[in-house]
Amino acid sequence: MGKARFLPLSIPYLGGNEERYLVECVKTGWVSSVGPFVDKFEKSISAYCGAEHAVAVSSGTAALHTALLTLGIKENEEVLVPTITFIATVNVVTYVGAHPIFMDCDDYLNIDPVKVREFCEKKCVLLKGKIINKRTRRRVRAIIPVHALGFPADMEKIMDIASEFGLYVIEDAAESIGSKYISGRYSGKHTGTIGHIGCYSFNGNKIITTGGGGMVVTSDGDYARRVRYLSTQAKDSPVFFLHHNVGYNYRMNNLQAAVGLAQLEQLDRFIKIKRKNFEYYRERIEKIPGLRMITEPAYSFWNTWYYSVVFSEDKHPGVREIVEALSREKIQARPLWNLNHTQRPYIREQKYRIKKAFEYFNSVINVPCSIGIRPSDINKVATSIGHCLQEWKK
Ligand SMILES: *Cc1c(COP(=O)(O)O)cnc(C)c1O
Repeated sequence: MGKARFLPLSIPYLGGNEERYLVECVKTGWVSSVGPFVDKFEKSISAYCGAEHAVAVSSGTAALHTALLTLGIKENEEVLVPTITFIATVNVVTYVGAHPIFMDCDDYLNIDPVKVREFCEKKCVLLKGKIINKRTRRRVRAIIPVHALGFPADMEKIMDIASEFGLYVIEDAAESIGSKYISGRYSGKHTGTIGHIGCYSFNGNKIITTGGGGMVVTSDGDYARRVRYLSTQAKDSPVFFLHHNVGYNYRMNNLQAAVGLAQLEQLDRFIKIKRKNFEYYRERIEKIPGLRMITEPAYSFWNTWYYSVVFSEDKHPGVREIVEALSREKIQARPLWNLNHTQRPYIREQKYRIKKAFEYFNSVINVPCSIGIRPSDINKVATSIGHCLQEWKK
């Protein structure tokens, strides 16, 4: 027996035109924050997702930050966010001086629209078309649904609540490029293209990567112009250094866009492979009593970004134990993100009836899901988790 190979959680696959496009950047000298690949990448994302406008930025976090700035969300206002998400979703609310209000999740790890409605109806009042939080007397301005792990959030219910209560909707689609709706009002629409503004991330662990980068999409030309303006230091003259606002250096560069374009060309193939790998995982995992995998909501097509194994019985070894046991087998697994309403910067912020999020936090692990994973790797993960459960039951 040779030494066991380390099985990473999620690594990029760069076997397409990435190298060729990068060489083109170097040879032509277009390596900075403008260039033909930036334009091409924006147009290609726009066409792929069916969004009218796309503006490339330096990260998913920058995309979310400029989205909030563009919609004018500011201090003394509040934004509804899920407690289950990567902390960037919440940090951007703080960047603009606003406050998050934390919400529970549904069975796809997404913000629970039933509790969001309940919060708006019971804990807020509508005053002249503005929704005011009764406890803080602050205005609630927006909601940020996150399509967690690529699972499309229930946008029909979210958009209904938003229009009823006058809220902006910023979709955090950082993890969900390629996911879409297959039935209902938004059938055929991609995640990120339904709310006022949508944000993608191309960080290294996402389904497609630019090394680091993001994209803002919207059907509103004014929003798109504002995002472009704010992300290029709020330049008010193309020649003279005139600035009427505080801007940011948030643009994507041509090298990143070159990689992004090559990745996007492969996205549908990536998803096809990942969906097949998911089915194989599911077959193996669900043979083991006490385990299941989260699958896509019936109304959607899921990009299968991250695979979630759920310990479905009340008693199990615990997420930490299992992640550590797998690590000893050279398998990289991870728990969900710490619930954000329990993180130090947010411990004092308001939360509303959070229950299910704790249950999932205590019973879900994400398992290796790179494009290049082999059936034998999947067998090994399933067998190792099975062993871990057996050992624990003894
Ligand atoms: C990755 C991620 C972000 C941030 O994107 P970066 O490109 O890393 O800045 C935001 N929200 C969610 C849900 C993410 O997964």
